Amino acid sequence: KELYVTCSAGISLYPQDGPDVDTLLKNADAAMYRAKEHGRSNFQFYTSEMNERVNERLALENALRRALERQELALHYQQKVSLKTGAIVGAEALVRWLHPEWGLVRPARFIPLAEETGLILRIGEWVLREACRQARAWLGAGLQPGVVSVNLSVRQFKQEGLIRTVSRILEETGLDPAQLEIELTESMVMGNVDAAIAVLQGLKQLGVALSVDDFGTGYSSLSYLKDLPIDALKIDRSFVRDIGGGDEADEGVLAQAIISLGHALHLKVVAEGVETDAQMRFLRRHGCDEVQGFYYGEPVAPMAHAKLLESAKRKARR
Ligand code: C2E
Ligand code: MG
Ligand code: MG
Repeated sequence: KELYVTCSAGISLYPQDGPDVDTLLKNADAAMYRAKEHGRSNFQFYTSEMNERVNERLALENALRRALERQELALHYQQKVSLKTGAIVGAEALVRWLHPEWGLVRPARFIPLAEETGLILRIGEWVLREACRQARAWLGAGLQPGVVSVNLSVRQFKQEGLIRTVSRILEETGLDPAQLEIELTESMVMGNVDAAIAVLQGLKQLGVALSVDDFGTGYSSLSYLKDLPIDALKIDRSFVRDIGGGDEADEGVLAQAIISLGHALHLKVVAEGVETDAQMRFLRRHGCDEVQGFYYGEPVAPMAHAKLLESAKRKARR
């Protein structure tokens, strides 16, 4: 086998970057991380602002480690609506970090770090359990939450024992597997397709639904897509944003193409990031099954989502 090795180097200089070996090494290390971030196979000289970034990262990492114990994580729920009936058919659970000093931290700020440090495994398991517990609680209160979906990270997907964990959580919380959906991304699945198919099949056997998130932004092999035991494609926001953008000729062509592709593969198609009436109409006209986005509602705290479910229930009775 041929192996490819790359080298990333960080450089610190005496005396301006440190008075002793320990400091020089520490600073060279910070510079090396920067070199790696810059796509590897390069070098970077140390600058003092690198240290600030490293310290910031360290502070974030330490705080994140404690976030779980201190119960600073919460889930918000964003409704998913059927374009055929207009009814709420489910919700996506989205993690939020409510830091006592920094306020609400968005997942984009801490999920990548959680991935790198491995903390995502514990966070992801908490998310899964909390979403199942909440869905079960809503059902117990006579509400119809529909299918609740949870985002899975790469690390979780590759973790041995994932299927057992999901199965255990379903058992513990008593949630019917049919009311849980797991969202994956293309890159997770396409890396090692055979291994991925085995995991997907295991999850499907539990009875949970599977969907591919942010579809169209990664590298999907169409010939593999056909073989994956998935239920739905989620059209990425960027393609929905193109709808109603003014350029009549190619407006929404990719969204339209993904709907056709999904339906040809007998998959449900969900659009995310729907913000306008024009986008909703376009998607409905082209047969998209479900939508999610600010046009219908932002992700909200569990209490607020329960209110939505209650008013949906009242409307259905009328
Ligand atoms: P995603 O799974 O694609 O989630 C959709 C994101 O789009 C959410 O951002 C949501 O708030 C936002 N969004 C929804 N409707 C609209 C809209 O109409 N317009 C716009 N501009 N944005 C909209 P959020 O909550 O910040 O999450 C970002 C990403 O973080 C998620 O993307 C997902 O990849 C990740 N994430 C969130 N929660 C979890 C989690 O529990 N586990 C893992 N592994 N990842 C998570
Ligand atoms: Mg998602
Ligand atoms: Mg998405």
